Amino acid sequence: MTFTTRFAPSPTGPLHLGHAYSAMLAHDMAAAENGQFLLRIEDIDQSRSRPEWEAQILSDLTWLGLSWPQPVMRQSDRMPIYQAALSALWRHGLLYPCTCTRRDIAAAAAAPQEGAPLTGPDGTIYPGTCRPDKPLEPITPSPPVGTALRLDIRAAQHALDNVPLTFLETGAAIDGRTGTISTTWSEVQTNIGDIVLARPAMGTSYHLSVVLDDADQHITLVPRGADLFDATVIHVILQHLLNLPTPTYHHHRLIRDDTGKRLAKRDDARAIAKYREDGATPQDIRRLLALT
Ligand code: GLU
Repeated sequence: MTFTTRFAPSPTGPLHLGHAYSAMLAHDMAAAENGQFLLRIEDIDQSRSRPEWEAQILSDLTWLGLSWPQPVMRQSDRMPIYQAALSALWRHGLLYPCTCTRRDIAAAAAAPQEGAPLTGPDGTIYPGTCRPDKPLEPITPSPPVGTALRLDIRAAQHALDNVPLTFLETGAAIDGRTGTISTTWSEVQTNIGDIVLARPAMGTSYHLSVVLDDADQHITLVPRGADLFDATVIHVILQHLLNLPTPTYHHHRLIRDDTGKRLAKRDDARAIAKYREDGATPQDIRRLLALT
């Protein structure tokens, strides 16, 4: 199997130093192994994705000296694939519709004596308001559209017969964890809960799309920011449920500004376009990021 890495930007803002680091790392790791580096445009959030941002991102990546094979995978072209996966999960009784608003969830999750609701890699841990007492017997071949669909984690645990949840990490979590990473199902119940796999406005979700896309692009190593480390077990569960391989993950350090704050998309001061305008060279960017 060809050693294959990817960079998967969302065209919802400019490419900043943190993205450039991820992209160059993925590119360099592939080059070092004589492998390939792929690009994917993660544009499922059509309310925030803009063609101008995509054009700017492609231009900045090219300026940085990166190249990738065509055609570029674009999530907005892949809705039928996401729908088919949702239907398969639905037919196995692993999904349920959820009509809770954010406010409902916050209110139900914040039991007065416990203070603030617990949050996981996907936001507030769902208190289970809409979860059926026993997994739904699907009477339709596809799930309802226009409503959120949650993964019933208990049903998933049962369907997967308590399969061990592990992946290989060659980078590190923010707390330094590396190597073979194992998570128990009970940790998943407590720290993650029933996550949303289809958002009403999108018909899919980051988690569902990313595992299907990484598998379809035959990605063997996923380099990405350490902020996604805690979400990786969600991806491992989905890979088991959908019979997809689990790639190796390489979570890298987050690029912070001088005050130690993580760079956000709106940090235009750190946008690569701004460095370009100010006359920086790609080598300057590599030096800044200690990528030489
Ligand atoms: N599209 C995501 C982002 O721009 C990247 C997700 C990933 O690499 O898995 O943050």
